[in-house]
Amino acid sequence: MRYLILSDIHANVDALDAVLAAAPGTWDRALVLGDLVGYGAEPNAVIERVIALDPLSTIRGNHDKAALRLEDAADFNHVARAAAIWTFDALTAENRMYLERLPAGPVSIDSDTEICHGAPFDEDHYIFSLDDASPALDASARPLCLFGHTHLPVVYRRDANGDGGAVPPVDDMLAIVLEAKKRYLINPGSVGQPRDGDPRAAFGIYDTQRRTMTLRRVKYPVEMAQKRIFEAGLPASLAHRLAVGR
Ligand code: ZN
Repeated sequence: MRYLILSDIHANVDALDAVLAAAPGTWDRALVLGDLVGYGAEPNAVIERVIALDPLSTIRGNHDKAALRLEDAADFNHVARAAAIWTFDALTAENRMYLERLPAGPVSIDSDTEICHGAPFDEDHYIFSLDDASPALDASARPLCLFGHTHLPVVYRRDANGDGGAVPPVDDMLAIVLEAKKRYLINPGSVGQPRDGDPRAAFGIYDTQRRTMTLRRVKYPVEMAQKRIFEAGLPASLAHRLAVGR
């Protein structure tokens, strides 16, 4: 089985389309790690694209929750809150119902793999460092735990020598073979709002037979996504940050 791993699409349909165009025939089923909506201007189109992919599993993220219940946006900064309010108004009834039904992570995918949005012990927790990764590696029910939420692609690994982290180079691709008896915590990065200084859309493909994890970046028409944000009347900073990947 080859999984296409998508996280933090954030209503950026231009980025999602570029990812899907870049990866035809290289995956069998999709896994979606939450935050389909919020920040970007096409929440309905993104949800409809995701439904059409028929993912093996899709879990919710904090922005999916906030777009349904604005009280969940109480601790957001003012830009994120403005986007949550805009999204709340923009969602169709069907798509709101779809988001309502998304389960919280973690969800076990197979005997080796589980997915979560933030961390396996708390869907809203951020893993930014090796110190953060350690309790998540402890909590993961599977040797491979896929997560999102930070919008930063990274591979953390645990072996007999302890925990180590490897940040993928800012390049087109990072491919690693997952070794038996090691535990991994891997963030594919964000499809729709990268924050590692590389504006290209990020995604992953995991081949369970070969045990290869490939983290990829693809260019997309950032100016199209920006135009949609301006036209929707969303905060302009949400458009500007896409150009710099921050
Ligand atoms: Zn997010």
